[in-house]
Amino acid sequence: MSTSIPPALEIPRRLLLGPGPSDADPRVLKAMSAPLLGHLDPKFVAIMTEVQEMLRQVFRTKNSLTLPISATGMAGMETCLTNLVEPGDKALVFNAGYFATRMVDVAGRAGAEVHELKLPWGQAFSPEQMRKEIDRVGPKVVGVVHAETSTGVLQSLEGLGEHCKKHGALLVIDTVTSLGCVPLELDAWGVDAAFSCSQKGLACPPGLSPLSFSDRALEKLQARKSKVQSWYFDLSIITQYWTQGPGARAYHHTAPISANYALHEGLRIVLQEGLEARWKRHQTNHLALKAGLEAMGMQYVAPEGHRLPQLNAVYFPQGVEDLPIRKRMLEEFGIEIGGGLGELAGKIWRIGLMGCNSRADVVYTCLSTLERCLIDVGVKIVPGTGVGAAEAEHARMAKS
Ligand SMILES: *Cc1c(COP(=O)(O)O)cnc(C)c1O
Repeated sequence: MSTSIPPALEIPRRLLLGPGPSDADPRVLKAMSAPLLGHLDPKFVAIMTEVQEMLRQVFRTKNSLTLPISATGMAGMETCLTNLVEPGDKALVFNAGYFATRMVDVAGRAGAEVHELKLPWGQAFSPEQMRKEIDRVGPKVVGVVHAETSTGVLQSLEGLGEHCKKHGALLVIDTVTSLGCVPLELDAWGVDAAFSCSQKGLACPPGLSPLSFSDRALEKLQARKSKVQSWYFDLSIITQYWTQGPGARAYHHTAPISANYALHEGLRIVLQEGLEARWKRHQTNHLALKAGLEAMGMQYVAPEGHRLPQLNAVYFPQGVEDLPIRKRMLEEFGIEIGGGLGELAGKIWRIGLMGCNSRADVVYTCLSTLERCLIDVGVKIVPGTGVGAAEAEHARMAKS
């Protein structure tokens, strides 16, 4: 056995422009370095209540059951589906990407009879297509990925909540990449369950999965005949820790204290900026980045009108090798961008402008370094093309 002690960590500075994690806001990192409190300390309990109240504002909901699950985004997916699916229930998943495929898997493991409507990756479902399939299948649970991070597609949820309600189905949505970046209105849209994460649009470290359940979802939970098969994610006991009132705040698990400090500060930052202003900032910087990427010859995977501003999935120029470019971006320039997942691996790059990274200077830094890397492997681009197009787009938007 070796007795040597490795040196203390020296973490290089990176600019995290992949599909997540995105950079944590410096204010968030500072909040995390505060001393620990006990998980039932009245001061911590007050922090929990504030986190829940801010989460309701950010999710645009009055749902009493709104809290962060103590794990990453996938745990939110698992919590929603294991709690809302009873063995044999029909679940319908609209699947056009990597994360929707995971929803199919997780719903199946929860005992659902899973039906899926598939589209080629990169496409979005039309409201009519979704309504028709719900009518045909008659599901108890409908799963949709709002922001499909594998393809950069924003899935419209127009009219879906109302249609699900009419047919007695619960609408579960994955907002892991959408929360804090694009419009999301749980109550106005009639969403029954939504889950997200801390490390993308909220600019916190990974480790928490904000989640919210409607009253209809709560009723289903209370009417369950079988126990939720997961102990850790059983909301009927988690809520005893996260709910105020008699018999509440009972120990369930030790909440990740520092992660909750982080989320508290992250949510304060979101609300101080204002959701509308934040959504607009993401859209503005997306349009500038898009102008630059397209000027350098790249094309978006998602069709116009269905693109995520916070996750730009583009086909890179033909003949270019994926890995050497991303390696150089990371090692020489300290910039992380994402590659493709599944069937898009080796074909696309995924460039995230999430949370505090959605800024003009980040857009220009990303475009100029990418341009340097592409020119050096022989792609014909006039130097300055990408940044020039982005600057022109920013200027155009500032005027209008
Ligand atoms: C990142 C992501 C997840 C998984 O979240 P983790 O925090 O990695 O567990 C789920 N769904 C979507 C759409 C995502 O982008």
